[in-house]
Amino acid sequence: MPLLEAHDLVKRYPVRGSDGVVHALNGVSFALEPGETLGIVGESGCGKSTLARVLVRLEDPTQGRVLLDGVDLTALRGRRLRAHRRHIQMVFQDPFSSLDPRQPVGAALDEVLAVHRLRRPGRVEELLDVVGLPAEFAQRLPHEMSGGQRQRVGIARALAPEPRVLLLDESVSALDVSVRAEVMNLLAHLRAELGLAQVFISHDMAMVRQISDRVAVMYFGRVVEEGGWRDVLADPLHPYTAGLRAAVPVPDPSIAQPLTPTVVGEVPDPVRPPAGCPFHPRCPRAEDVCRAELPPLAEIRTGRRAACHVASRAEALR
Ligand code: SF4
Ligand code: MG
Repeated sequence: MPLLEAHDLVKRYPVRGSDGVVHALNGVSFALEPGETLGIVGESGCGKSTLARVLVRLEDPTQGRVLLDGVDLTALRGRRLRAHRRHIQMVFQDPFSSLDPRQPVGAALDEVLAVHRLRRPGRVEELLDVVGLPAEFAQRLPHEMSGGQRQRVGIARALAPEPRVLLLDESVSALDVSVRAEVMNLLAHLRAELGLAQVFISHDMAMVRQISDRVAVMYFGRVVEEGGWRDVLADPLHPYTAGLRAAVPVPDPSIAQPLTPTVVGEVPDPVRPPAGCPFHPRCPRAEDVCRAELPPLAEIRTGRRAACHVASRAEALR
């Protein structure tokens, strides 16, 4: 059984002062296996952060379900929700904004442990050690640390409730390249040592493929392609993925250099979703059917899912 499942998640927001509606998520589905890292990639405005917030139940979905170990989190309230929610922890993009500037790191970690009744002697130092920081960092204030050190503290804080899934929303994007590499190594290590499953969300395909087993490509509030990242990069099925890939430098000579130009044009206005496939205004392969019918996300090749009329017809003819 998958550890974490999203079923057809929809999120709509009213537009203040009008009767318009923002279509932030338009039916996101995916599954995460225990110990796996799933990369979620897409341009800004494609719904990645809304998805993260719905997965940790900072927001309720308008429709759809989030299952953790088969338990529907969206149906839980109060104490039962808190008990389950602790198993999915989010690491934010900017750890500084989520840390109290006057609170030493050790006290901040201790507070989380207390909330979850997981306090025990030496646990703060243990958490610091897991993220590669010496015990004396317990006395430090946020401004006395570098960006990379603060992000390690952010990860330690996410680990304190002993989660089964770590959700990383652009968590390393703002770091310098060398610091970023260190934090990515730490994440890989957490996965290997603790078997911690991760959802790694980023706009950057190169970052996502470094760390993920599988990748889900999001466009306009939906997953439009999903599969093992090697397969997806080597032979993208969805025209949007092909465009994203073209923006990624390819150091691996076994993967052909991209021929497709990068994606031109803008993400559609989320208040006025286009009819049919939401990618059709930007798609070099769009046909009449694309302007009329929404393509379902379907397994069109073994282990590969895509939401594209033209790709599924091509696969059916193979
Ligand atoms: Fe392009 Fe049509 Fe496929 Fe959408 S369904 S991605 S418009 S070819
Ligand atoms: Mg975002």
